[in-house]
Amino acid sequence: MARKLSKKKKEALYSALGLILVLIIAAILYFSGILDPFLAEPDTPDTPDTPVTPDVPNTPEGELKVHFIDVGQADCILVMAGGEVMLVDTGDTDDDYTDKIIDYLKALNISTIDYLVLTHPDSDHIGGAPEIINGFTVEKCYMPSFVKTTKIFENTLDALEDRSVDVLLPEVGSVFKVGEASCKILAPLEEYDDCNDASIVIRLDFGSRSVLLTGDAEKESEADIVSTYSSADLKVDVLKSGHHGSRTSSSTGLLDKADPEYAVISCGEGNSYGHPHEETIERYESYGITTYRTDLLGTIVLTTDGTSLEFEFEKAS
Ligand SMILES: [Zn+2]
Repeated sequence: MARKLSKKKKEALYSALGLILVLIIAAILYFSGILDPFLAEPDTPDTPDTPVTPDVPNTPEGELKVHFIDVGQADCILVMAGGEVMLVDTGDTDDDYTDKIIDYLKALNISTIDYLVLTHPDSDHIGGAPEIINGFTVEKCYMPSFVKTTKIFENTLDALEDRSVDVLLPEVGSVFKVGEASCKILAPLEEYDDCNDASIVIRLDFGSRSVLLTGDAEKESEADIVSTYSSADLKVDVLKSGHHGSRTSSSTGLLDKADPEYAVISCGEGNSYGHPHEETIERYESYGITTYRTDLLGTIVLTTDGTSLEFEFEKAS
């Protein structure tokens, strides 16, 4: 015989069923994600209101310094980044200039040269090399395969051998690092008959700033560089003027693609070659390039943190 539930029991049963129904609906809403916006955690104090600076790839630590040391009618460029050192060329055989380079390096507490780059074996680029190789620890030396029969070239090879320096041929396209600065070898692209064209050409990048170190590369090498690389490959902020500002370098083809804002010319006051040639200076002017010359300004030092670009000069401009 069926028993009728009492009114009280009925009410309790309905309440329980109602509660279960509410719980089921809540569960459905919760797992379906509909409630997510309402369940989100409130902003906590450690969530900054200011936008977070996104990680900019390519932002290096510290700074890059490029010293275009005034060594008269010759080249000597000291590159420093992250405690590492590259020396590109070593001035001429003049003892005063060699002593100047050695004193300059010592004043910066340099005892090890991580990379010595002898762009090509002319005496105004390897003149101080034997003394520098003997006076410092040179880890690696890049030089082109071009051979000369001069005494200074022989002495340089002897010093490299005596000091067991690792000598490397410039492999086009290869990249090495000086601290966080990247050095890409762009040339020589051929075996040239002309010693100047055999120059090692290096693109130096630090953050978003760049320098093209050209040695004495002239028309022929520049033409090959221009036909091999894109504007993006060659676009730089600073061009080390090829061959001391000679009219036979800094061709319009190169300037079109490299599009530098600055050109640094390493040359000696009153030199017998008439460097820099007037045509080169005029070409730079027509491209709106600011020119700095060691014969007028002495040693020129470029500093960049990867974004900014600053020049200092030994002599007032
Ligand atoms: Zn030279």
